[in-house]
Parts: sequence; C-alpha cells; structure tokens
Amino acid sequence: MIESRLPDPRLVEVTLNGETVLAHADATILDVCRDANVDIPTMCFLKTLSPFNSCRLCVVEVTGSRTLVPSCSRTVDGGMEITTESERIANTRRTLYEMYASTVDLSLADEETQNWMAKYDVNIDRFGLYESHRDVKVQDDLYIRDYDRCVMCYRCVAACGPDAQNTFAIDVAGRGLSATISTEFDVVLPDSACVYCGNCIGVCPTGALMFKSEYDMRAAGTWNEDRQTVTTTICSFCGVGCNLDLHVQDNRVVKVTSPVDDDITDGHLCIKGRFGYAYLQSESE
Ligand code: SF4
Ligand code: SF4
Repeated sequence: MIESRLPDPRLVEVTLNGETVLAHADATILDVCRDANVDIPTMCFLKTLSPFNSCRLCVVEVTGSRTLVPSCSRTVDGGMEITTESERIANTRRTLYEMYASTVDLSLADEETQNWMAKYDVNIDRFGLYESHRDVKVQDDLYIRDYDRCVMCYRCVAACGPDAQNTFAIDVAGRGLSATISTEFDVVLPDSACVYCGNCIGVCPTGALMFKSEYDMRAAGTWNEDRQTVTTTICSFCGVGCNLDLHVQDNRVVKVTSPVDDDITDGHLCIKGRFGYAYLQSESE
C-alpha cells in the first residue's frame, strides 16, 4: 500500500492562483476559494442551500477544461489548477451581469451584487435597459412578489422545498422570458400550500420577494436603512430558541430576519418568528 504524504488521506493538493493549498476531496472549488479568502461572485448560490448552477457568475478557469467551470458545484480533484481572475473570467461575469440588467430590474439587488457590478464596471445599458414585460406584482398580506426583479436563481424554490421548509408551495412555471416563480396552478398564495414562513423572502437576492412592510414603506418613501438598527434576540414563541434579527426604524420593528450563520435556523424561520411581532408595538395594555 502506498502511503499518502498528505496529513489526511481525505485531503488533496490543488493549485489556487499559483499557490498550493490543501482541500478536502469533497470540497467544491468555491469552498476552497472561500477558505483561502479568495472572493468569487455568486447570485444563485447560498451556503445554506444546495448549489443550483443557474447564474454562472462563479465561473473560474481550470487548466485543461475547455469551458469555464462553475465553482459552486464542481468538486476539486487532486492536482487541479484553478485561476479565479483573468480577462476571460471578468468579461464573462461582466457580460452576465449586463444580460441580467437587460431582462430584470437589479436596482434593489443585494449589496454583494451591487459591489461586484461596480468592480467589473458593468454597463447596465449595454444590451438595453430592461423593460417591464412580466407586468406582475403579486400582493399578499405579508409579502410581495415582483417578477420584474426575479433572476430565476431558484433560491426561493429550494428554501420552500427540500433545503429548508419542505412545503413545496412554489416552483418555476412557463418558459424563457415568460418563466416565473409560481404556486401550483398559479393559485393565489392563501389557496396554495404556503405556510407563510417567509423563508423564500429571506433568501431572495434581488428584492423580487419583499416583506409587505418594506414594500409599503418604500412606496411611501419612508424606508431608510440609515435610520435602522438590527438587534439580535431570541424568539419568544416556542422552545426552539431561534435567533431573530429585529430591524427597527423609528422605534418600530419594520422586518424580521435570522442570521444565515445561525446554527439553529440557518437563516430560516416560521410564520410566528418572522411575522408575529405586531404585539411588540401594540398600544393596548
Ligand atoms: S412563505 Fe414559506 S411556504 Fe410560503 S412560498 Fe415562501 S418559503 Fe414556501
Ligand atoms: S423570486 Fe428571488 S429567490 Fe426566487 S428565483 Fe426570483 S430572484 Fe431568486
């Protein structure tokens, strides 16, 4: 038997931007990059969800591979040579952001997306600015679905389905530019299997799914994150002990999230923790 010279037989050696690093054999390229503090843009990927491979923004070069490789889902092989920044990669990522901007409204995309778009000097007008073609803003009591902002990353489908909630209330319906996230038979949310946990809103990277409280305040021009504080506390509804982040503006809770790094919640909550905060600001005794 040949003895491995590596300290753990489950480790492999890979070359990352010219440096030799050790990686677990079942790690993805993205895992290895993040462990080595090498930044990679992602949009459909979230560490608490299974990789879906739809946005392609995390592509890197692997020596010997004709095409760029999605780092979120490709596991490493011993001897793999990975390059995370090159003109080819930058052009690809820039073009992808520009294509997204031509089909959806990215103005409320998360900070990570905005920062990468600035870094790659994205021209959002290159393929023509998006025009509203879906004409669907579905208002429910607790949240809004704005399909003009949806990049079809499938995060919400994964969070509603096998990766967190296991409710399977939403999935993709339609094809091409007409594809949307929909309930079964496109019924309104109260008639669907939805249990209003809000986990789909919690993972949406673009503001396509938004708390109604935030949507109404934005529409009224009163939403102001500079005036908001975030206080982490423990949900008082049951004994599970989920961490809640209370977003407070002008002494009122304006939305509730949970930290994605929380061991108990992975960022997910139930309807009580997510939406049951009205009693905190009730005027009655
Ligand atoms: S609120 Fe929860 S159950 Fe309803 S669609 Fe979103 S993730 Fe699914
Ligand atoms: S609604 Fe949000 S989370 Fe769902 S697919 Fe669209 S962008 Fe992704």
